[in-house]
Amino acid sequence: MDVHLLEATEDPERVICTAARNDYSSSFVGEQSFEKTMETVDGETMEEKKRTLIGHLLGHGHYGPFEHAHATFAVKGISRSCMAQITRHRHVSFDIQSQRYVAFDDVDPEDVRAGEMVVVPPSVSDADWIGRNQRDGAVTEETIQEREQIFHDSIVQSVEQYQQLLDLGLPPEDARFVLPIGSKVNMVMTLNARMLMHVADMRAAADSQWEVRDMTEQVLDFAADWCPLTFEYYNENMKGRKNRLAP
Ligand SMILES: Cc1cc2nc3c(=O)[nH]c(=O)nc-3n(C[C@H](O)[C@H](O)[C@H](O)COP(=O)(O)OP(=O)(O)OC[C@H]3O[C@@H](n4cnc5c(N)ncnc54)[C@H](O)[C@@H]3O)c2cc1C
Repeated sequence: MDVHLLEATEDPERVICTAARNDYSSSFVGEQSFEKTMETVDGETMEEKKRTLIGHLLGHGHYGPFEHAHATFAVKGISRSCMAQITRHRHVSFDIQSQRYVAFDDVDPEDVRAGEMVVVPPSVSDADWIGRNQRDGAVTEETIQEREQIFHDSIVQSVEQYQQLLDLGLPPEDARFVLPIGSKVNMVMTLNARMLMHVADMRAAADSQWEVRDMTEQVLDFAADWCPLTFEYYNENMKGRKNRLAP
C-alpha cells in the first residue's frame, strides 16, 4: 500500500487555537491578530503557547476545535477488506475506485501470483505470524508452502474467471462478484484532526487488523508533520489508551 498526503489545512494549529480561544474570549478572534488571541495563554513563545493550549484541550477532552483542521489522503492498493473497515467511520469522506467503471481486463493472471491486483496477507508466507482467532501457533515450512499454493491458485483462478466472464459479455459490475475480497482498490479520504485521532484509537490498536493498522500508522506519520503539537500530545498521552475519544 501507498499513502500520500494530497492536501491539508495550512497552519492547522493556528486554526485549532483560534477556534478554542474564541470560546472564552469577549473580543472577536476574526478581527484581531493571532498574537492578541493567544496573549493570555501560558508560554514564552508562540510555540509554547500553542503547546500549552493544545495540551489543555486534549487533556480536558475539549475536542471540538480539532474538527477545524482537516487533511486529504490518497491511498493506493489496499484490499477491499481494509476498505470496508475504514469506511465504517462515518465522519470521514471517501472516494473509492469503482469496480463498475474500472475493469481489470488487462491484468495478466500470472502477475496476480506475483502480487498484482490482490493483496497477499503476510500470514500466508510467514510461519511465525499469529493472527486473531488463529487455530494454532507457528507452522512448518511445509504448511507454508501448501498455504501459498492454495492462496495463490485461488486468487489467480478468480481473476482468470472474472476475465472470462467479461469476455462472455458480463458487465464489470456483475463479473466483479467473483473477485476476491483481497482485490486492491485506490481511495481518497478526508478527515479532520479529531476524527484522525478517533480512527487511530480504533485502527492503530493492537486488536485491529494488520492492514488497516499499517495504513493508520502511515496516516499518523503524516499527521505528526502536519499538526505536530497535537499529534505529539496524542502519541505521548492518548495513543493506545483504553478509552475512546468519542465513546
Ligand atoms: C477491532 C475491530 C473489530 C471490529 N469488528 C466489527 C464487526 O465484527 N462487525 C461490525 O459491524 N463492526 C466491527 N467493527 C467496526 C466498529 O464496530 C465501528 O462500527 C467502527 O469502528 C466505526 O467506529 P465508531 O462506531 O466509533 O463510529 P464512527 O463512524 O467512527 O463515529 C465516531 C463517533 O461518532 C459517534 N457517532 C457516529 N455516528 C453515530 C450514531 N449514528 N449514533 C450515535 N453516535 C454516533 C460515536 O460516538 C462514534 O464513536 C470493528 C472495529 C474494530 C476496531
